[in-house]
Amino acid sequence: MAFLQIAEPGQSDAPHQHRLAAGIDLGTTNSLVATVRSGVAETLPDEDGEHLLPSVVRYTPDGVIVGAAARDAGVEDPHNTIASVKRLIGRGVDDLKTLGDALPYRFVDSGSAVPRIQTVAGPVSAVEVSAEILRVLAQRAEKTLGGELTGVVITVPAYFDDAQRQATKDAAKLAGLKVFRLLNEPTAAAVAYGLDREADGVHAIYDLGGGTFDISVLRLNRGVFEVMATGGDSALGGDDFDRAVAGWIMQQAGIGGDAAPGLLRALMDKARAAKEALAGRASVPVAVDLPDGGKWEGQLDRETFNTLVDPLIRKTISACRRALRDAGVTPEEVKDVVMVGGSTRALRVREKVGEFFGTEPLVDIDPDRVVAIGAALQADVLAGNKPEDEMLLLDVIPLSLGIETMGGLVEKIIPRNTTIPVARAQEFTTLKDGQTAMAIHVLQGERELVSDCRTLARFELRGIPPMVAGAARIRVTFSVDADGLLHVEAEELSQGVKADIEVKPSYGLTDEEIADMLKSSIEHAGEDLEARRLAEQKVEAARVVEALQSALAADGDELLDGNERERVEAALDELRRVAESATDAEAIKRSIGALEKTCEFYVERRMNSNIRKAMAGHKVDEFE
Ligand code: ADP
Ligand code: MG
Repeated sequence: MAFLQIAEPGQSDAPHQHRLAAGIDLGTTNSLVATVRSGVAETLPDEDGEHLLPSVVRYTPDGVIVGAAARDAGVEDPHNTIASVKRLIGRGVDDLKTLGDALPYRFVDSGSAVPRIQTVAGPVSAVEVSAEILRVLAQRAEKTLGGELTGVVITVPAYFDDAQRQATKDAAKLAGLKVFRLLNEPTAAAVAYGLDREADGVHAIYDLGGGTFDISVLRLNRGVFEVMATGGDSALGGDDFDRAVAGWIMQQAGIGGDAAPGLLRALMDKARAAKEALAGRASVPVAVDLPDGGKWEGQLDRETFNTLVDPLIRKTISACRRALRDAGVTPEEVKDVVMVGGSTRALRVREKVGEFFGTEPLVDIDPDRVVAIGAALQADVLAGNKPEDEMLLLDVIPLSLGIETMGGLVEKIIPRNTTIPVARAQEFTTLKDGQTAMAIHVLQGERELVSDCRTLARFELRGIPPMVAGAARIRVTFSVDADGLLHVEAEELSQGVKADIEVKPSYGLTDEEIADMLKSSIEHAGEDLEARRLAEQKVEAARVVEALQSALAADGDELLDGNERERVEAALDELRRVAESATDAEAIKRSIGALEKTCEFYVERRMNSNIRKAMAGHKVDEFE
């Protein structure tokens, strides 16, 4: 398994040549791109010197606008201006209800499971909107670096499910980008601080943005990051601070809740400005034009602000406590707390977080850029620019995965917060005499009842030999790869009939839809496939090399003379060399074949010798 994790497709075969790669923080409010140049990771600005690209896309009859210009048009052209698309990506029509009716868009009633927003440029999906943002960032990187990117690392929240991860990858594909891998945002932040080079220990990543709060607990174990637990609140952030401050202004200025929407928006803007200014001052002036033509002027001091936001901060601390409990550690065991997200600039947040964990939080890297910087460092490694320094990043699955059993119950096969990649198997049996098929219903969620969990996939295992009920043994194996994507296999153990499924996210794009949109990037798909085959053959070569080495160690001296051993070792070295330098899977396959041929005689001798050993002391007829 360890070998699989580091054999990322795209890892360089020619380490001397610097390959261009970038890390992308695809955020709800803002997105960033960063790269490593001369050994230093930094975010890249646009022509105006802005690092943050507002994650807003506006569709017009003349084309697509991304960024600040799109954001500023949001009020006048709400139907064609898509903001916070990250809340929609990988979500289905059914999920829209739970997202609240705050969404100002017109959704197409297409009958498809993927929601599409009606714009003047036609209907668009969240994947397509996200692809526009990624395209702008990739172009920025290519322009700055002066060449084409070989690949990117894109960050996603640790709690993103399969559908959301797959949809993010689809968006990258649509933008013509090769994704080395998706990386959890907290893991990226830890990498940015170089915590991977410190002594082993537990770290917490506290990410308070505009609309969301995420807490992640990571453990560094012999240079490897493992996400032990995640938690948070998807509806808690700096916007709530703004609302609290705006409410205070209204109270002080005697403005009623029935004020015009324009005034309320203006109050929110004032509140936000005052909040942000307080990070550098003890008190800030606030002035508001009243509806009756008058003016209210006052001062927001830090003490008042603290009273207003303390209940919100307390909520984040409760989530931290729960995440630590999930991880099985105490606050004292946490060595470092990394601060991420614009709202961690608020001094009160730093103070309360420091109090809870009993340590001064890390704030040296700009909390807006820290995730992109970590992603860039990881992209640089995966591009093959640092072959010595293979960094292994482990994440956890955010929600339990299981299958439906008798009575509409869910049997969890991989519990939430298990470190990935992971494979777990469980045995099941038939319910009826002579049953020859079994329906496998794959689910995600924490609840016990099927109806409360989310369906990820359904498939059938057929060809079970008829037996009495309860006699058949069906092994169901769940494996989740390093990107968090699930593969499920069911096998009947007496005859070995198998069925399996790659879990397609239930609300991702259909294959046809992707194919349609991908006409232009078919070459990339070919490359992806070849890269995967190459990675697979490298894994196979490693397996063969290891098997042969352990055989040689066990009985090489006993079974081979000097000449024979030399021949075997020469073939072994050859395979090692080929596997290391090959750029096509076929070459490795041929070399494995050659090695097997060379070793045929040795394998035969081992078999004979093993049989002799097994039979020693037994009479031959015992084996009949
Ligand atoms: P997101 O992760 O949702 O994209 P960000 O990490 O960019 O959001 O954080 C945006 C939030 O940070 C906004 O609510 C903004 O008001 C807040 N913020 C920015 N600067 C400060 C500051 N100096 N003090 C308090 N909050 C701030
Ligand atoms: Mg963020």
